[in-house]
Amino acid sequence: MEIIKDSKEMQDKILILKKRNTSIGFVPTMGALHEGHLSLIKQAKKENEIVVVSIFVNPKQFGPNEDYSKYPRVHDQDISLCDKESVDFIFLPQESTFYDPDHLTYVEVENLSNLHCGKSRPGHFRGVTTVVAKLFNIVQPDRAYFGKKDFQQLIIIKKMVEDLSFPIEIIGCPIVRDFDGLALSSRNKYLTTEERKIALKISQTLFRAKESILKNENDSQVIYNKIYEELNSTEGIKIDYISIVDDKFLQPVNIITKNTVILIACFVGSTRLIDNLHCSDFLN
Ligand code: AMP
Repeated sequence: MEIIKDSKEMQDKILILKKRNTSIGFVPTMGALHEGHLSLIKQAKKENEIVVVSIFVNPKQFGPNEDYSKYPRVHDQDISLCDKESVDFIFLPQESTFYDPDHLTYVEVENLSNLHCGKSRPGHFRGVTTVVAKLFNIVQPDRAYFGKKDFQQLIIIKKMVEDLSFPIEIIGCPIVRDFDGLALSSRNKYLTTEERKIALKISQTLFRAKESILKNENDSQVIYNKIYEELNSTEGIKIDYISIVDDKFLQPVNIITKNTVILIACFVGSTRLIDNLHCSDFLN
């Protein structure tokens, strides 16, 4: 496994591989790797000859009052996890030099980036699409792997790739959950034991919504009300948003079908957590 910190060096290595027609799978991450990230890496390993994992806490996707400086950075641990998964290259750009000090270019996917998480975190998705576009130009993968845990992000990246004709297949991978259902997230590290218990309510509420939908409740207002009441009555949870939307343009729907996704963001203490339920996973 090679660890490369310089963008030009990474790009040069990739160009050699591409000349040999080697297939490249790419997993972009912010590090603090857990089983969710590892599931993406495992899938990339199966489908490509070479796998590149990037680890970069991207300053451009954090708001001024967000957790950029305290975001966990555990490079040694991440490197050993990647090594165990037989990753071929870790791309580990330096936070101080990855962007030119005069960086002026941004990529923005209009209309999708200002909804849901984008409403609560202005500029977040502009930062995400900008870094992903830049990473795509460096790594030039055939396939790139993203978790459905960040559902809105996945849809936005797919749209960017389609609109800007990146020759890359975007692969959405299932949400990996802890033993009790909590969606794995690097931010779970911030939770106290008490908060961890409270956070569980988010996935439990989604699973109950799934049960109701499976019992033929398809009125999104009814499902919304149930979710809202459960979360709102839980001490320690502050709802950021609950959105019941279609899985392409992320617009509200009245009737739940297999193309519906329920997106939730909540604060547990000062930690913002997201989770979702994609009805295509259980409806025909
Ligand atoms: P992050 O390091 O949080 O930027 O995440 C890097 C990638 O891992 C993104 O595509 C996430 O959607 C994905 N990911 C994070 N948590 C999970 C999870 N619990 N299950 C599946 N994918 C995940």
